[in-house]
Amino acid sequence: MKCIGVLTSGGDSPGMNACIRAVVRTGLSLGLEVMGIKRGYTGLIDGEIEPMGARSVGGIIQRAGTILQTERCEEFKTLQGRRKALRKLNEYSIEGLVVIGGGGSLKGALELHKMGFHVVGVPASIDNDICGTDMSIGTDTALNTALDAVDKIKETGSSHGRAFIVEVMGRNCGYLALMTAIAGGAEVVLIPEKEMALEEVAEILEQAYIKGKAHALVVIAEGAKCKTSKVAAYLQKEEVGFEVRTTILGHVQRGGSPSAFDRLLATRLGASAVQKLAQGVSGMMVGLIGSKIKTTSLEQVTERHKELNITFYDMAEVLAK
Ligand code: ADP
Repeated sequence: MKCIGVLTSGGDSPGMNACIRAVVRTGLSLGLEVMGIKRGYTGLIDGEIEPMGARSVGGIIQRAGTILQTERCEEFKTLQGRRKALRKLNEYSIEGLVVIGGGGSLKGALELHKMGFHVVGVPASIDNDICGTDMSIGTDTALNTALDAVDKIKETGSSHGRAFIVEVMGRNCGYLALMTAIAGGAEVVLIPEKEMALEEVAEILEQAYIKGKAHALVVIAEGAKCKTSKVAAYLQKEEVGFEVRTTILGHVQRGGSPSAFDRLLATRLGASAVQKLAQGVSGMMVGLIGSKIKTTSLEQVTERHKELNITFYDMAEVLAK
């Protein structure tokens, strides 16, 4: 193999740049040419492809986002779109591809592998919803960002005797919300994996008020069945004791300088992905399992949803007392 490509796809997450840097510099050290593909699978189909040198990835390890940019590409989901992509890869003499992205992007990578092209995937998602890795690139930073906001909100909450509802990201997976709740000392957490009736939420807050807590915190995952606005309206109506205020963290969680953990994870995964490609491996994803970097087939990674360890939910409940 003489030339590889790298792209970032789907939702961006802090640490993608650190991963691109590791891919480029590891590739060059192995004597490979490395091509950067802009805007995910869209740029691949359109041929937005340029060679990358060691200097082109200088000064980016501490920056969130992705210098290659990222996009969602409907055309790539079609056979015709993927054929166009393969044609471009041939045109640029690219023989292997590193795909950095979330579950959807890894499904795309699997499709390319099935068409006979060499691909290795790297998991990047603030939701931490990808199988085959304990942590995805960006999750730790997003968690720290959410926690930082929660800590600040709690300080002002104590002064006013308020209950704060904080909505964090997570469409189908409550990992970020649950971990924010545990590390931030929340009274209640609502996640897609576990339902809680509004009456129960109100009861917990009322009890917290009666016990003399200075403030209360409810963390809600974006994808929880009970929507944030509904919870807020219900708690206002029920007059639980605390005044209720809502904060939706939204996209701030995708920004922020990647944490040390994410930089190291992204670097290890990026380097490993290139080593695997150079060894002729394809159709695999590199991931962190325990403290080691291991490979899992893209087939296995994409066929199921990552299960949330629900014992953490029970722990959150116990600690909220
Ligand atoms: P993420 O990678 O963050 O989960 P998406 O689910 O939006 O984000 O997927 C990103 C892109 O990956 C899609 O826009 C599409 O180009 C590609 N993709 C997703 N699912 C498939 C699929 N089943 N087959 C081929 N490509 C796919």
